Amino acid sequence: MNLVLLGPPGAGKGTQATRLSETFGLQHLSSGDLLRSERAKGSPLGQRVAGYMDAGQLVPDDIIIEAILSQFQEAGRHRGFLLDGFPRTVTQGERLDPVLEGAGARVNAVLALRVPDKEIVDRITGRRICPTCGRVYHEKNQRPVRTGLCDNDQTPLIQRKDDTVDVVKQRLAAYHTQTEPLEEYYRGQGKLFEVDGTRDVETVFSELSGIVGERANRAVS
Ligand code: ADP
Ligand code: AMP
Repeated sequence: MNLVLLGPPGAGKGTQATRLSETFGLQHLSSGDLLRSERAKGSPLGQRVAGYMDAGQLVPDDIIIEAILSQFQEAGRHRGFLLDGFPRTVTQGERLDPVLEGAGARVNAVLALRVPDKEIVDRITGRRICPTCGRVYHEKNQRPVRTGLCDNDQTPLIQRKDDTVDVVKQRLAAYHTQTEPLEEYYRGQGKLFEVDGTRDVETVFSELSGIVGERANRAVS
């Protein structure tokens, strides 16, 4: 089973992806985490994408498509993918389909988290992440057990460079102009499930799990 998580920056995709991938045995593939790790390594890919990311713009389709599709080969031991942050444009969605078809697979469901723009700024500016495992926290809403340290591996938490008020405005603009048309693409295929992401993490997770569980049952029956 292959799932795509959609929604504006800060909607809770990464937060829910960690839980969903553990519960359903899916490989969590986050395009943002992948690009941040390339930057941390100082790789040629990391250097090419840095300017776009820091400005809150999407990186060009060809670059991200090549980077993400190369990850698919490593997914053999999982029951499928949970794609978080990719695809993000109609072109990326169109390029993903034949790759999955070539492996006898497809996108089974697309989960779109709905959070209004006015709530996004607080979520983004309060976000802290673990640079080792990618776990996501919030300075008020989702605090770690030990202040400033990841619950999973005790790494000191950091703030993302693009999690500022100015950059989030650019990222929201990119979402509205470039990613919303992708939601229409999946709606036209009857795969889009919209979920209210403004509720607490457990309530959102429960609704998402219900949708995924129901799709998983259909896939085997
Ligand atoms: P995305 O991956 O969509 O950019 P994240 O999962 O990183 O979003 O969440 C953005 C911020 O919002 C994080 O600081 C996270 O702790 C917080 N957050 C996530 N889900 C919720 C929620 N349901 N209610 C309140 N805060 C949330
Ligand atoms: P995220 O971690 O999903 O918020 O992504 C952080 C940044 O990485 C984005 O603002 C983009 O610059 C870049 N990025 C991540 N995924 C994609 C994608 N699918 N297409 C283009 N750019 C992306």
